[in-house]
Amino acid sequence: MKFIADVMLGGLAKYLRMLGIDTKYYKNIDDKSIVKISEEEDRVILTKDKKMVKELNPKNVYIVEANHTIDQTKEVVDRFDLRSQVNPLSRCLICNSVLREVTKDEVKELVDDITFNSFDEFYVCDNCKKVYWHSTHTDRMQIIIEKIINQGSQWGSK
Ligand SMILES: [Zn+2]
Repeated sequence: MKFIADVMLGGLAKYLRMLGIDTKYYKNIDDKSIVKISEEEDRVILTKDKKMVKELNPKNVYIVEANHTIDQTKEVVDRFDLRSQVNPLSRCLICNSVLREVTKDEVKELVDDITFNSFDEFYVCDNCKKVYWHSTHTDRMQIIIEKIINQGSQWGSK
């Protein structure tokens, strides 16, 4: 399942990428181009813009109801049953490219000494060159991810 978020849903796009879900997002793009990309690449449009949906009548669209980013992310994960697709730290938050796990040596020149010495798992985005690192206990991202994933499944199992 692939998505394209409209200009108003940058936060949601970032959170979906955080979960490893393929989500395109552009800060400056018109609605017609979003519909075009959606059709060409078989992506579901995520939007809150009912007027746009009425006017352009895109084939593949989902109108997000929730207002806050975490709630929106949960809504999309539930609606499209994405839990099995979740793969944290697999996709760049900035550009949506797939991350590559690298050895510590490879990032030695790219991160500061404290980061280099504190973490063992590093990932790079070959497209925009951003470096990511992983820590299970302190990572705020990990906490948010668990919040999104667990809450829904908890409800589901009861
Ligand atoms: Zn990137």
